[in-house]
Amino acid sequence: MILVVGGAGYIGSQVVKQLNEAGFVTITYDNLKKGQREAVIASKFILGDIRDTSRLSKLFKENQVEAVMHFAADSLVGESMENPLAYFENNVAGTINLLKTMINFGVKRFIFSSTAAVYGEPQQIPIMETDPTVPTNPYGESKLMIERILARCDEAYGLKYISLRYFNAAGADESGQIGEAHHPETHLIPLILQVALGQREAIKVFGTDYPTPDGTCIRDYIHVVDLAEAHILALKALIAGKTSTVYNLGNGNGHSVKEVIEAAGRITGRKIPVIEARRRRGDPAVLVTGSTKAIQELGWKPRLADLETIIATAWQWHRNPSW
Ligand code: UDP
Repeated sequence: MILVVGGAGYIGSQVVKQLNEAGFVTITYDNLKKGQREAVIASKFILGDIRDTSRLSKLFKENQVEAVMHFAADSLVGESMENPLAYFENNVAGTINLLKTMINFGVKRFIFSSTAAVYGEPQQIPIMETDPTVPTNPYGESKLMIERILARCDEAYGLKYISLRYFNAAGADESGQIGEAHHPETHLIPLILQVALGQREAIKVFGTDYPTPDGTCIRDYIHVVDLAEAHILALKALIAGKTSTVYNLGNGNGHSVKEVIEAAGRITGRKIPVIEARRRRGDPAVLVTGSTKAIQELGWKPRLADLETIIATAWQWHRNPSW
């Protein structure tokens, strides 16, 4: 039985679906603060928070948990700059609580949702796993703290973990059943599509004076289905006895904010008015990785890597969302 903590969120629910398709039995544990109950397909569901020790202990007592995948976290850079304590409480204290419970029950396999934000301003592009980690915001810092805690837990308790450092997850399941819908929405591609649908008047471009060819930030967008697939491979690797490690997950293709808006205009055939706005605090100019390590060691093969496919699947979902 695989415990998916935060499995009702955008990425967690996609992983639950693919775990199920790969033949794993899952339990989803989520406080539904940001997640959607309807997003959890074919999994036992338990409502709960990672800070609730007694509920977690009960869950571990009643179920034979083989491994834990941990998606439950606050994940907005801007919000973390304004309220760092909330981020450290949920992302760090909450995860410590989850890890303590796992160790108490002898569960020693852990897949962790980490982020490109652990690197801060990159020293080189593409970013490699061995590059310095100097986060520029509390969100990235909270994830890096957990990575360090995980390394100590391996030394002390033999916990085996794989930390997956996501670049920009985007797109939606090809079935159209689940997709990205945050309330409130802050992410670039869903916001652009809301503009295309006439639900918003314009998309704000946060900063046009970055040291990039068109002055806007460059990001490495990765399809959520490919991202989920990397989790399944990481889980299988841990089960097969792989030692603890970290992987970057992206496609190696950087796209600027302006390029994403133009591509969305082409794909949707709709007008997307743009407002040039100030930079958002905590945003590095360029975040791109090659994922060579995940490709070589996990045998990961991204299938839906190009920006057109990412936006087209997101568009299919946004035109007809399930919630
Ligand atoms: N962005 C933007 N306008 C928006 C939302 C995002 O220009 O309304 C930019 C943001 O500054 C970043 C990129 O789009 O460079 C991706 O941001 P998003 O919030 O989607 O993901 P993040 O990089 O924060 O994980």
